[in-house]
Amino acid sequence: MFDALVLKQDEDGKATAAVQQLSVDDLPSGDVVVAVEYTTINYKDGLCLSPKGGGLVRQYPHVGGIDFAGTVESSDDDRYKPGDKVVLTGWRVGEVHWGGYAQKARVKADWLVPLPDGLDTRQAMAVGTAGFTSMLSVMALEDHSIKDGPVLVTGAAGGVGSVAVAILAALGHDVAGVTGRPETGDYLKSLGATQIVPREDLNETVKRPLEGETWGGCIDAVGGEMLARVLGQMQYGASVASVGLAGGAGLPATVIPFLLRGVNLLGIDSVMQPYENRLRAWKRIAADLPMDKLEAMVQPATLSDLPKLAADILQGQVKGRVVVDVN
Ligand code: NDP
Repeated sequence: MFDALVLKQDEDGKATAAVQQLSVDDLPSGDVVVAVEYTTINYKDGLCLSPKGGGLVRQYPHVGGIDFAGTVESSDDDRYKPGDKVVLTGWRVGEVHWGGYAQKARVKADWLVPLPDGLDTRQAMAVGTAGFTSMLSVMALEDHSIKDGPVLVTGAAGGVGSVAVAILAALGHDVAGVTGRPETGDYLKSLGATQIVPREDLNETVKRPLEGETWGGCIDAVGGEMLARVLGQMQYGASVASVGLAGGAGLPATVIPFLLRGVNLLGIDSVMQPYENRLRAWKRIAADLPMDKLEAMVQPATLSDLPKLAADILQGQVKGRVVVDVN
């Protein structure tokens, strides 16, 4: 028997979560059983743990957790053997398939990635889906060339934002972080941001389709009016990696920045990334994300803290990265 945070639906269709004991027989089908060591909370986990499952959870009872790291306990697949350290992000695990909010998980071998050299399971979850996605965004910007001048990171004090700031700064870029929480300014500077941009400077509706050419690149976790404004402030030929929608799914913009400044809007999806690109991103994380900066982002938690953290992350109130020790 092992502990899991199980979501159950009441008669009114409202889901609530509680830690309970499960057995391996309760787990869904799959070819690898992983003894989970660490998981985390991402914005999407906040949605899955919300009373209506954020439109993502299809069936109850459900075990959430869109990512985890741990040790293979048993495997029917040649690629993995007991004792191997693994990490999982994406593939709709924690949404459609049971996820990492438990001491054990059974998943498809195809969904796993061997833990890269240089990272332990706790560090892998300090990175988590959020940080993995930050690295995918950095790689996409690099593929389109990052221009001189500050690289903007929106939602900077959140998970995606914090890791993006630390990676970009470590790579030698001048980083500007947009935050709605001025009290996180020192924290963002400690991660390597050289400029803090107040959220209110950027969340007003676009009035002029082009503003001054300011940013050499952007990783945007916010979307909505902020992304629309940022497009008009990009340097000629610069790129914006669109990662998130913490501020809204709309895009009230014009096409003028694309047509007159050759600005690129790059879509970033972490869920269905091909295996080879996952390996490449995790290797880059181990190489380019300073571990002392990663540690400075971490707040520790346990399975029973997750319902409160889920509500907090949907309110934009989680700073940096949460690492959940499930044991
Ligand atoms: P967090 O909640 O940790 O970070 C989001 C940050 O956005 C907040 O900390 C806050 O930063 C800012 N923010 C929140 N609400 C607003 C608002 N109304 N207006 C402007 N800024 C706001 O979440 P994550 O970092 O885990 O995820 C960020 C986004 O990225 C989410 O939308 C998530 O769904 C998406 N995502 C997408 C992935 C993909 O594959 N494309 C993978 C992972 C995440 P501050 O306080 O500094 O202003």
